[in-house]
Amino acid sequence: MNETVDPKIEDASDPIAFQTEVKQLLNILIHSLYTEREIFLRELISNASDALTQMRFIQQTEREVLDPEAELEIRLTVDADEKTITISDTGVGMTREEMRTNLGTIAQSGARAFLNAVEAENVAANDVIGQFGVGFYSVFMAAEWVKVISRSYRPDAEAASWYATGSDTFHLGTAEKEERGTTIIVKLNADAEEFAEEYRLRQIVKKHSDYVAYPIYIGDDEEQTNRQNAIWRQSPSEVKDEEYTDFYKQLTLDFQDPLTQVHFVADAPLKIYALLYFPAKVDQGMFALRADDGLKLYARKILIEEYTKDLLPPYYRFVQGVVDAEDLPLNVSRENVQANALMTRLKKILTNQVTRKLEMMAKKEVEKYIDFWNEFGQFIKEGVASDETDREKLYPLLRFHSTMHPTEWISLADYIERMGAGQEKIYYILGDDELSVSRSPHLDYFRAHDYEVLTMTDPVDSFMLMGLRKYQDFELQNVAAADLELPVPKETKEDGEAEDAIEPMSDDEVAALVGRFQSQLGERVSDVRVTERLTSSVARLVDVDGALGQEMQRVYRMMDRDYRVPAKTLELNPQHPILMKLSELPEDDALSKTIIEQIYASALLIEGVHPDPSGMIPRIQELMEAALER
Ligand code: ADP
Ligand code: MG
Repeated sequence: MNETVDPKIEDASDPIAFQTEVKQLLNILIHSLYTEREIFLRELISNASDALTQMRFIQQTEREVLDPEAELEIRLTVDADEKTITISDTGVGMTREEMRTNLGTIAQSGARAFLNAVEAENVAANDVIGQFGVGFYSVFMAAEWVKVISRSYRPDAEAASWYATGSDTFHLGTAEKEERGTTIIVKLNADAEEFAEEYRLRQIVKKHSDYVAYPIYIGDDEEQTNRQNAIWRQSPSEVKDEEYTDFYKQLTLDFQDPLTQVHFVADAPLKIYALLYFPAKVDQGMFALRADDGLKLYARKILIEEYTKDLLPPYYRFVQGVVDAEDLPLNVSRENVQANALMTRLKKILTNQVTRKLEMMAKKEVEKYIDFWNEFGQFIKEGVASDETDREKLYPLLRFHSTMHPTEWISLADYIERMGAGQEKIYYILGDDELSVSRSPHLDYFRAHDYEVLTMTDPVDSFMLMGLRKYQDFELQNVAAADLELPVPKETKEDGEAEDAIEPMSDDEVAALVGRFQSQLGERVSDVRVTERLTSSVARLVDVDGALGQEMQRVYRMMDRDYRVPAKTLELNPQHPILMKLSELPEDDALSKTIIEQIYASALLIEGVHPDPSGMIPRIQELMEAALER
């Protein structure tokens, strides 16, 4: 690598070593091949834009600055003969010491995270580099050397220079520069000379930096290349769909189109412009996302905070976008943004806007809403579980599968509409998956009498249910509860004659059978008893009064790996032919013991609490052998 200092830098220092992380980073950047090297320009422009934003901010608060009249702008020029490009801004600039720190070290966390991502996850460095606070160095994907000449906005600051070739060291020096700001000269590698063309730069700016909030000029062109205007300050009726989409992609670095957006301009009670997006997918590839959640907060077009988390409740953290509030005092520092009372009002307005948009979508764009629900339903459920004040507003957004509509998504309102006159509760069943839930003995009665039951098989459902005990006038009721009051029987499905043909067990026989189960299962069950609830199932396990509800048990189980499900009560169906025949076998019959074991094991399995399902195999084999001996 060429170590000679460019002659245009006077009084250059002896080589200064880059921080280890920077060395590693440069090594990766220089020795890899990139398909989209052009993004280095986006990164340099984004740094220039950040420097301009800081400048705009400083101008509001400090009197003495260098070049107070200078237009806040970015200029790109090309020297086609020298194969250099130059990026200049009139931003805050850097002193010599600032360059030493800012362009010689990187925040440990950012650098580590980036290196890990590139090494372990095998993602392309150029896709993600901007998100780790290391964007500047991407220039070495295309540069033979880079020279930065900068002059800080502080009136007494002197211009300084920085120079590096991508090797392990850099140089600092003095420089001549009259105006405030930073100029970066990039000498292109032989294989990157394509960038030494104005038309190419124009293309790249259009693609990646169109909405940068400052004018970008290329060469002698008097017209700015980027469209720049804050799209969120335009009237929603003037913005085209594709403009929304383009802006979204530049804002979020998501490569997919957003699902939809909410754009609103409000005058009262606060003057706000907000453009909020719902992404299409939760998972945009871990690294396609912005570095953090949160909305971009502007006050009168000046960026106050990049990732503002307090503008929406945590369960709406998937929402991306920009909020521009006219009434937010400009001198509100980044730290006390949270403390501002206006922020609370802002949050309320934004939250309502998002909820209302979802509600509208659910009503008018059903398919789109289902797409949303499939991706983001868990967030809504989280909101129901966690937001004590607003949870009821989220109820209409919930969607469920049910025993009658196992593949559709129905709302609580749909459920209620179909409820017959005799039904006073909304029934649900909890389980691990739709299929095993559909076979649950808890459903016997409801199926026999045509009552619809919501099936809840998502791990967050038990959390959600703690915040959803009642909808309108109807309580939610778990069908697995031991002593629930059953709804009146509807027209019972025709029972086969066959079952009636068997003589029912006498009370004594039932008591004896229950006794056999009790003595054999011992402490593994809290009790054994008969029930009228079951029709087609032999037995079921229930939690009796006083025991922790099934919802809480599931929550505990998820939070604590050692949590053991407490012993349950086994309920038997005395009408079931298996039990009737079992009752006729002598108590010490070996097969009878095996059958009792298997009835208990099956009940555990269907509850999703069997500790060792494959342990059933030897027993099933034994039962098959016995069956074949007949
Ligand atoms: P990030 O932009 O995420 O902070 P970068 O690697 O892109 O990380 O830039 C490193 C730092 O260099 C910036 O934080 C900033 O302090 C400084 N810097 C880069 N370009 C400029 C510029 N044009 N004007 C002023 N400071 C700059
Ligand atoms: Mg940057």
